[in-house]
Amino acid sequence: MSFAELGLIPELQRAVTEAGYTEPTPIQKQAIPVVLQGLDVMGGAQTGTGKTAGFTLPLIQRLARHANTSTSPARHPVRALILAPTRELAVQVHESVQTYCKYVPLRSICVYGGVDMRGQVDELRRGVEIVVATPGRLLDHVQQKTIAFNQVEMLVLDEADRMLDMGFIPDIRRILDMLPEARQSLLFSATFSDEIKKLADRMLKNPQLIEV
Ligand code: AMP
Repeated sequence: MSFAELGLIPELQRAVTEAGYTEPTPIQKQAIPVVLQGLDVMGGAQTGTGKTAGFTLPLIQRLARHANTSTSPARHPVRALILAPTRELAVQVHESVQTYCKYVPLRSICVYGGVDMRGQVDELRRGVEIVVATPGRLLDHVQQKTIAFNQVEMLVLDEADRMLDMGFIPDIRRILDMLPEARQSLLFSATFSDEIKKLADRMLKNPQLIEV
């Protein structure tokens, strides 16, 4: 089973080939077609399995259906949020997003705490479709009205179990309360405790279970 057979568009096939991927990993084979269909996903996968490409590739492809080549910021509202527990992970996920977006006219930003907000605010003002963020800093931007959620159509929670360990669940719930109901949501976690299941109940609609 190739990336083409999974239904990826040529722009993304080209980007993964240039990244040196010859064949999808097991989680990619399961996740890509399901996410492309627009379904919610509850995914059990450790890092190192290729899970990042498993959710970012189909996410990019769904957004690319309505990509806008205008340079006007208003034409580039935030359409996808990817939440990660740490700055390091957010940066890694964002690097993947940038690699896969090489031939697709979508803009992205990585937003995390511990650095001045101004640079992030300037980038947000120019318009970005994909925001990769740690939860606390994302809420800072919401409070300062430098980010709006009204056009968000996709949400990914990566490493939900680590979010829980780090005390981020209240922040996640606050973010969920602000997002449009009509959206596609994906939750990834290495383990599924009762608390993660509760969060999944709140966040996902008829989720497809994917485990590797
Ligand atoms: P992840 O589990 O998402 O952290 O990915 C682990 C590593 O595998 C990253 O360095 C990816 O670039 C790489 N990777 C992801 N998918 C593939 C693939 N299909 N073939 C080869 N390497 C891959």
